[in-house]
Amino acid sequence: MNVEAKLAVDRFFVDEEDAHIKLGDVSTLDRATLELLVRGCPAGLYRFNDQGGLDFDYAGCFECGTCYVLAHGTAIASWEYPRGEMGIEYRRG
Ligand code: SF4
Repeated sequence: MNVEAKLAVDRFFVDEEDAHIKLGDVSTLDRATLELLVRGCPAGLYRFNDQGGLDFDYAGCFECGTCYVLAHGTAIASWEYPRGEMGIEYRRG
């Protein structure tokens, strides 16, 4: 079973009321800093939009912490695990 097949059986319980990752003012950051997130997030949740800005949606987050390591204190204003019963439910490790 490959990684994509394993991820396909995971379930996400998205907390629509409380984003567990919040961005700061990314408009002041250079592209190289933002590119760390675009390239580093294994779920592909950070993307450049047509205007060159950064789009982010926490739904689908693997809770791996990579973006925290890469950009806490720059792009990432706060990072927490989702509230209980929320977030990803891994089913294949
Ligand atoms: S915790 Fe991992 S999967 Fe979630 S947004 Fe950050 S880098 Fe992406």
